[in-house]
Amino acid sequence: MPEIERTEKEWRASLSPDQYEVLRKSATERPWSGKYVDTHDDGTYCCAACGAELFDSSTKFESGSGWPSFYDAKFADAVELITDRTHGMVRTEAVCKRCGSHLGHVFDDGPAPTGQRYCMNSLSLELVPTTSTPSPPSPPQ
Ligand code: FE
Repeated sequence: MPEIERTEKEWRASLSPDQYEVLRKSATERPWSGKYVDTHDDGTYCCAACGAELFDSSTKFESGSGWPSFYDAKFADAVELITDRTHGMVRTEAVCKRCGSHLGHVFDDGPAPTGQRYCMNSLSLELVPTTSTPSPPSPPQ
């Protein structure tokens, strides 16, 4: 059971309509439509529903698929994998371990070192940039 449980009404209230469709209804965003497809910033990709840390930017790679892709989860138990038999295919669905929200699917055609391709929806993720050293305050005028 997920650690965080909310009613569908509560999820609807806390997510945008597009996020709700993907995270809670397992929809898939259109390829190349997501905000993180070409992102190269350093940071941690967190669950857009509950904030759990899911992927480190260092594992993001160019998959050419049109969806942000990672070769590993940030922590072994951050992402739960479930057999998905919908749409006439057998796929591995990835959900947030903490809140059970849909993230995307995992395929075994990824790069080294894992060989895995976590094919994620941008709508399921929120990039929290690595905090850079704040610049010193400007001197008084
Ligand atoms: Fe979550």
